Amino acid sequence: MSGSTARLHAIDAVKRYQPPAVSFMPADVPGEIFGQNVFSKSVMQSRLPKPIFKSLMATIEHSKPLDPTVADVVAAAMKDWAMEKGATHYAHVFYPLTGLTAEKHDSFLEPGGDGSSIAEFAGKTLTQGEPDASSFPNGGLRATFEARGYTGWDVTSPAYILENPNGNTLCIPTVFVSMTGEALDHKTPLLRSQQAMAKQAERILRLFGHENPDAVVSFAGAEQEYFLIDRSFFLARPDLLNSGRTLFGAKPPKGQEFDDHYFGAIPERVLAFMLDAERELFKLGIPAKTRHNEVAPGQFELAPMFERSNIAADHQQLLMVTLKRVAQKHGMECLFHEKPFEFINGSGKHVNFSLGNSTEGNLLLPGDTPHDNAQFLVFCAAVIRAVHKWGGLLRASVASATNDHRLGANEAPPAIISIFLGDQLTDVFDQIAKGGATSSKEKGALTIGVDTLPVLPTDPGDRNRTSPFAFTGNRFEFRAPGSLQSIAGPMVTINTALAEALDHIATELESLVAGGTDFNVSVQRVLEDVMSAHGSIVFNGNGYSDDWTIEAEARGLPNLHTTLDALPELVTEEAMELFSHYGVFTHREMHSRYDIGLEQYVLSINVEAQLTVEMANTIILPAAIRYQTELATNVASLTAVGVAADTATLDEVSSAISELRSGIVELRSELAKGAADTVESEAEHAGSGLLPAMSAVRSAADLLETLVADDLWPLATYQEMLFML
Ligand code: ADP
Ligand code: MG
Repeated sequence: MSGSTARLHAIDAVKRYQPPAVSFMPADVPGEIFGQNVFSKSVMQSRLPKPIFKSLMATIEHSKPLDPTVADVVAAAMKDWAMEKGATHYAHVFYPLTGLTAEKHDSFLEPGGDGSSIAEFAGKTLTQGEPDASSFPNGGLRATFEARGYTGWDVTSPAYILENPNGNTLCIPTVFVSMTGEALDHKTPLLRSQQAMAKQAERILRLFGHENPDAVVSFAGAEQEYFLIDRSFFLARPDLLNSGRTLFGAKPPKGQEFDDHYFGAIPERVLAFMLDAERELFKLGIPAKTRHNEVAPGQFELAPMFERSNIAADHQQLLMVTLKRVAQKHGMECLFHEKPFEFINGSGKHVNFSLGNSTEGNLLLPGDTPHDNAQFLVFCAAVIRAVHKWGGLLRASVASATNDHRLGANEAPPAIISIFLGDQLTDVFDQIAKGGATSSKEKGALTIGVDTLPVLPTDPGDRNRTSPFAFTGNRFEFRAPGSLQSIAGPMVTINTALAEALDHIATELESLVAGGTDFNVSVQRVLEDVMSAHGSIVFNGNGYSDDWTIEAEARGLPNLHTTLDALPELVTEEAMELFSHYGVFTHREMHSRYDIGLEQYVLSINVEAQLTVEMANTIILPAAIRYQTELATNVASLTAVGVAADTATLDEVSSAISELRSGIVELRSELAKGAADTVESEAEHAGSGLLPAMSAVRSAADLLETLVADDLWPLATYQEMLFML
């Protein structure tokens, strides 16, 4: 198909589409499908010998070390269960640093001696795999001649069955490490950081008198935003197909200004998709909860219920794969890019997090008694210190070429990391900072641990949507992560930064108490110290305002605009010391993450730059020239018959064409500059050479879109993609 034919065919296909009838539960109730394909606690309980089940639960639920001798028995039970569910293959699933999910598939069946086949799945096969790792990014951790990497069973994340028309697969969540045990994935550091944080949190709990606290874990609930467009449009746009975002497209006459999409009616076809997707997610034990339209047209959100952060991270990846697959079944494409459409709000993935254990519950929930509240304030203060001290790392944990288009663009939190506490809690901390003085007469002097400590707000009052890090009553919500990224990176940073803050606070408290200071007085003093050192991170105002940029600078808060500004945070001496001290990353691993971050940035922008040239040359320019010829023919024929021809339109089109041409020339010469010596300078060139040159091509092309006759225009327009569902 050439010229505008592809676009017209796409429009035609959309018009003819009939959504299939879908119901969430034809005859049953949700309870029966939930977790149906999961090797869950209850499945294990019914299929494993009691001692093995107990030992496994001690690891899964109470973070006790895994007894390696259970593997054979678990593997046999898992295999039987999976084969009863129709599985013919098993796969070690891991999360390499491309951000995608990788699977290495093997068959259960092995040839038997007599030409028959026997089903084999030993403990060793369950616990360890050896995928060819050479095609995954490693940032110099693995010499190129050594392609081997290992996957290792993560017993804390349940195995599940992935259904497929060609046979089902037993999927086993795993870590992915190099020969030398260095992390090549997202899961390994998440598990390590979880352990580091738990250890320090336990010290605080002991100080508060809990003698044998259960292991503390972090919880995460991610809100996934995404766009849906008709698949015919998706397939007719090489930019969406290859880079996940539109590299061209004029601003639509009707955008999101009308505010009529948020919580608006969900189109019938989208509803069918959502029911189907939720059903699939339920089978996988993913508790998908809310659904509503987001601000932009064609944009939606799905928030699964929060879980332990490691499981939440795995489920989050599985959720994206599931949404994509189900959308395709419904003739749509699910776009996870942070900014698929310029001028239209982008997509994020808010990460709600809290920490707690089975004995204490949620440690970020203000309690009913002053004692509980003092403990809550300590954990809250730890978050304040963590975010202030390690804000640059938090920013780096969400850095990517794609998220750069969204952060700070007046629709998503700014690149400046600050904390929103709400008025009441801010007031409490302000009083603490002033040494327990009172700012409000009725409340009485605020002293930790005595009855005058006011009832703390579980509802922070106003919701502040402009803050990157907001307290929302019983959790914090980190709003900077991008819709495309794994939540593991942000959670690793949060856990590790919290480990440091809790460690600091515990050490201070322990030494004050050891020196004979009363415990309540000690808490008061430590909170005061934290607030005077780190209180400047608290900001309840409008994060989108220009005033905040100025004020944040005065407060000394970093404003790391782009990925290139943010990534170096990973390799500062302090950051490397932080991560290595808590056993999360070695210095080498940090360097490898930094390199991979830069490589991915370069790769992503390079693909886009090449696509821009190609589409401008082969799709947009020909359409514009056809129109120019039509106009020129018109002028010539008018002149030939002696009618004075107005050349204004022709002139306008011609000048936009020459602008497009010179843009293409410029971008080509930027692309021709070739590989630089270091990945840093390549990244620098991508950011300051390629990106602006791409923008120039785009603006000429977008201008042409508003000039060229509609029947000649080859690319599906924003209007069509966003409003035809
Ligand atoms: P909103 O859009 O108002 O921010 P949503 O209901 O869309 O809220 O999403 C809230 C997310 O926060 C859900 O994933 C929810 O499970 C999660 N969440 C709720 N409580 C906690 C908690 N204590 N810790 C972590 N996540 C939580
Ligand atoms: Mg939300």
